[in-house]
Amino acid sequence: MRIEGGCRCGAVRYRIDSAELPPVYCCHCQVCQTWSGSAFTQQALISESQIALTSGVAAIYENMTSSGARSKQHLCGTCHTRLWNTNSARPGIAVVRAGTLDDAEHLVPRAHIWTKRKQPWIVVGDNVPQWPENAPTADFVVALSGKLA
Ligand SMILES: [Zn+2]
Ligand SMILES: [Zn+2]
Repeated sequence: MRIEGGCRCGAVRYRIDSAELPPVYCCHCQVCQTWSGSAFTQQALISESQIALTSGVAAIYENMTSSGARSKQHLCGTCHTRLWNTNSARPGIAVVRAGTLDDAEHLVPRAHIWTKRKQPWIVVGDNVPQWPENAPTADFVVALSGKLA
């Protein structure tokens, strides 16, 4: 299975070096709602070394997070779809906008964070781990590993 994805207009394409779709989580925080223009973002945490462009050139947008870290967004310079970002607080990790994966229809989120900002019509299953704000790192890693499910 080839794990690939790309932007809305098709100018930028990427590949993830993995045998299967990466585990994803949903973030319902206000920043994610604003940035996606939607109810939540669906994201995958992978090693930065696993992701590479296969066509096009990513535009880079850098911003400071509320905690003072530097976030570096890779997006399509033409249609401005956000594809992934890195963060100086988590070196070596890439956060992929999982909706840009070609096989996004097969993703099943393993965790939900910032559910205190969740839109009320979204119902998260009782067996899916969720946290009102950010999850403690150790618990989050276990949740994404699927060992709770
Ligand atoms: Zn594009
Ligand atoms: Zn968020």
